[in-house]
Amino acid sequence: MMIINVLLAKKAVGNRQTFEFITSAEQLAIEGETPWMDSVIQIEGELINNGRVLAVRGTISTTAKYQCSCCLEEFTVAMEIPFGDNYQQANDEIIDSEANLTYYTGDEIDLTDLVRESLILAEPIKCVCSENCRGLCPHCGINLNTAQCDCQGKIIDPRLAVLQQLLK
Ligand SMILES: [Zn+2]
Ligand SMILES: [Zn+2]
Repeated sequence: MMIINVLLAKKAVGNRQTFEFITSAEQLAIEGETPWMDSVIQIEGELINNGRVLAVRGTISTTAKYQCSCCLEEFTVAMEIPFGDNYQQANDEIIDSEANLTYYTGDEIDLTDLVRESLILAEPIKCVCSENCRGLCPHCGINLNTAQCDCQGKIIDPRLAVLQQLLK
């Protein structure tokens, strides 16, 4: 659980407090295979009473394991994901219904949902191990980042083969 007690922060505009948590995908109840399955997830941030709301701003730091969509190798990357939300006490009058607000009750804000959502949203759709990944040879399937093959020289494009026939 990542709960911040906001009793002091609520008392005066300008009050701020920092927070720090260590969690994991398991503790966040993210089920199934995830890139962060075996990683430590570090949460760090600050809560500020800006008069209208309690503004939470922070960073999620973790490492994620992905499979390169080009060469199919597994690789690990460090991730820094900014997150934040504005919290308003549930029984306050709604100041601005357009604003991005989350309501809390009592003196505690639970960051679990926010952190879980921020992590899931930060997951890239397509990932490659490096910008220069050379991928797999389309003919023999060898990983061209770590090995070489001579397929390029051996295989003749079928369209070129037809051309060669015509030239005879
Ligand atoms: Zn790759
Ligand atoms: Zn090859």
